[in-house]
Amino acid sequence: SIMPATLSAISNGAKKGVLFKGGAHVEAIGNIKAIAFDKTGTLTYGKPAVTDVIFREDINQQDVIPIIHEIERQSNHPIADAITQWSTNQNTIHLSNVVHIDGKGIEAYHRDDYWQIGNSLLIGDHKAEDFLRNHSQSKDMFGKTLVYVAKNEAIIAMFALEDQLREEAIKAIKSLNQLGIQTVMLTGDNEETAKSITSQAGIKHYKANCLPSDKVAELERLSSAYENVAMIGDGVNDAPALATADIGIAMGTGSDVALETADIVLVKSDLPKIVEAIKVSHKMNRIIK
Ligand code: ADP
Ligand code: MG
Repeated sequence: SIMPATLSAISNGAKKGVLFKGGAHVEAIGNIKAIAFDKTGTLTYGKPAVTDVIFREDINQQDVIPIIHEIERQSNHPIADAITQWSTNQNTIHLSNVVHIDGKGIEAYHRDDYWQIGNSLLIGDHKAEDFLRNHSQSKDMFGKTLVYVAKNEAIIAMFALEDQLREEAIKAIKSLNQLGIQTVMLTGDNEETAKSITSQAGIKHYKANCLPSDKVAELERLSSAYENVAMIGDGVNDAPALATADIGIAMGTGSDVALETADIVLVKSDLPKIVEAIKVSHKMNRIIK
């Protein structure tokens, strides 16, 4: 049977916009020593916008933009939304063999051509580096999310996108640090973007270019170093890490899978509510002890 103090903590949390999915989680959140944050949609609003585009010099933009548009229309990743908003297409484009690759991007065939749109993990580091080296204007795009477009294994274009840090993220990180809780960011995005977002947010540690399985491995490592570790995320790709963490926290605006997997939900995706959850837990533990 559930103790009155636990019940009152759960109802207290609910009033503050923190949904505990069981009494055990109220106690557990008060004991965390570290918390891992997903970036896109968690620390940031998750609504990137295209800021720059570079096409290889010999490319006819009118020919390729409709195909890029059509490929990204097959994906519901926030990056795909931004690229489909940037591009337009009035023609009928037939794609085949569309494949979504977790943490990397998307592939498809158009006629006999093999298209890939995604990060350097999808395209290949060497090709991405060559493209950047050959296009000096890309120097101004460091710190942004870079998405490459390859046709038959050769890069023909690159998009730079920017997503804003959530306004309340800085306050949340500051309060967690004051409580002596270590903060880390795990992201599928590149090194430069990771550096830029963590320095704005006040987070000291990060791991970039994470596949969903890398996020899980990192949580296992953190769990053995810090004993009690929480993970907060919003995406389908975060679900395995949320399940691995001692405490999984989902953003209320996140995907169904994240909401189902998590132990705690921040109903309004308001990051400082993590601190509220910890306070509710400490208060309950004081009553019980
Ligand atoms: P995050 O941890 O930042 O939420 P994801 O695992 O969702 O990242 O995605 C990782 C990376 O994969 C993105 O930063 C992007 O570079 C690439 N990516 C994923 N889906 C797409 C897509 N539809 N179009 C282009 N790039 C994509
Ligand atoms: Mg995310």
